Amino acid sequence: MVEVKYLLEEMNVSEIKEIIKKCDIVLIPIGTVEQHGDHLPIFTDNYIAVEVSKMAAEKISKEFPVVVAPLVPFGKSTESKNWVGTISLEPITFIYLVKDICASLAKMGFKKLVFVNAHGGHVQLLGALTSDIARETNTFVAVFDWWQTDIQDDLKTGVRESGEAGIFHACEAETSQMMVLRPDLVNKERIAESYPCKFTESSGYKHLLIEKPHHLFSFSWNFEEMSQTGAVGDPTKASRDKGELIFEILSDALCSVLREIKEKVISSASA
Ligand SMILES: [Zn+2]
Repeated sequence: MVEVKYLLEEMNVSEIKEIIKKCDIVLIPIGTVEQHGDHLPIFTDNYIAVEVSKMAAEKISKEFPVVVAPLVPFGKSTESKNWVGTISLEPITFIYLVKDICASLAKMGFKKLVFVNAHGGHVQLLGALTSDIARETNTFVAVFDWWQTDIQDDLKTGVRESGEAGIFHACEAETSQMMVLRPDLVNKERIAESYPCKFTESSGYKHLLIEKPHHLFSFSWNFEEMSQTGAVGDPTKASRDKGELIFEILSDALCSVLREIKEKVISSASA
């Protein structure tokens, strides 16, 4: 098999000029530096964002080339700002960071910018920025994250053993993923159930639910009120096999999105 070069950080100027002639889509992995309890490292979201981006870029390269931009490691982690291990940006800093990165990628020639987001705290903010960035940089902008309904359904049928809110933070899913990526950084002795005591149906809520693919409305919360350890979910149900399956599901889902963007979204850089 021919090895495909798709990491922007490994390319020189002439290689970038060359790849831009054939490729108008760039993936931007984005995570955050945030506490993930006592059993996972603070870089967990970043490891996951990069892996999903790389897997999808590699899979789709058989059909068309897609480039992966350098990781955006810092993000907005307001809900765990008070915990040791979290390095959080103010929303305004985050907005400028993201806009500046997009402006540079657009100037380079990429016409379709796809964030691969692995941090729940970015979903609404990043989503709200897409049209503004697109307008300012004359690009198409999309955000791919875990909260897409079909991915949730796949995870539920194919993987999940934990109960309500068992997949949320440093949970069944993220712990499984880290067992694949960096098993040396998963502290198995500290893995423990950490179901939240509020914002779930089982604790008497109907509308204020933390685990819902589509919230009826947004509300404020923080990790202190839901967790002793910083984790929310059930990492005791994690396994390496599940982690591998989750990465397959996520990268396939991202490939499917990329096909649609390639085919249906017209850009001036498209052939
Ligand atoms: Zn995480």
